[in-house]
Amino acid sequence: MSVSPLNYSAFLSAIQNQISGHADEIAALDQAIGDGDHLINLQRGLAALVTEAETLDSLHLAAAFTQTGMTLMSTMGGASGSLFGSMFVTMGKTAKGQKLDWQNIADIFTAGVESVKSRGKANIGEKTMLDTLIPAANTLAEKIQAGETIETSLNAMKHAAEDGMLSTKEMLATKGRASFLGERAKGHIDAGARTSQLILCAIADCYLNKKN
Ligand code: ADP
Ligand code: MG
Repeated sequence: MSVSPLNYSAFLSAIQNQISGHADEIAALDQAIGDGDHLINLQRGLAALVTEAETLDSLHLAAAFTQTGMTLMSTMGGASGSLFGSMFVTMGKTAKGQKLDWQNIADIFTAGVESVKSRGKANIGEKTMLDTLIPAANTLAEKIQAGETIETSLNAMKHAAEDGMLSTKEMLATKGRASFLGERAKGHIDAGARTSQLILCAIADCYLNKKN
């Protein structure tokens, strides 16, 4: 089963559109409990990837993931730059030599999320991007494993990502800048959880719309 008839750059522009469509909201989230740079960091990373779109389109998915990770690490900045960067470098390593069926895609995504956990020394429930990424990766893997269709599996992943992102609102932060705020971090969604959810939503919708 081929994973996608789409170019890598089609996913990139879907992500860019999704992020710019929610720019004010994302900026406000990091202003509330961080230092306000998350939107700019992410947009800088995405813009750098867009300049490499032609190369990325020509590469095998494993090599494209690795290059994405290196570019994000060197251009994005912030905690999120090294975390997203590490995630993609690990996904590239994991994808190398693998047949790209959905079972493997779910495993590659899971490996990427594991690398965010170890690099950030964080886990679910700490008010970070991991509150989106962990349930999303687990749900995708479970649904594919259970033999659900790709449409059902991706939609379930989107819901899990959204629930996870929303769950950060009432959490206390124990990692990242928001951890300095104690109780004052409560009542705000984590910026990285929101952008991770928007990115996953853009990827899933890009795939689903193209297929239909
Ligand atoms: P910085 O915190 O350095 O200003 P960004 O604003 O770009 O970097 O990214 C902040 C986001 O990074 C947070 O909203 C959170 O989701 C994520 N984050 C920060 N620290 C960690 C960590 N240790 N583990 C996982 N995610 C983290
Ligand atoms: Mg910040």
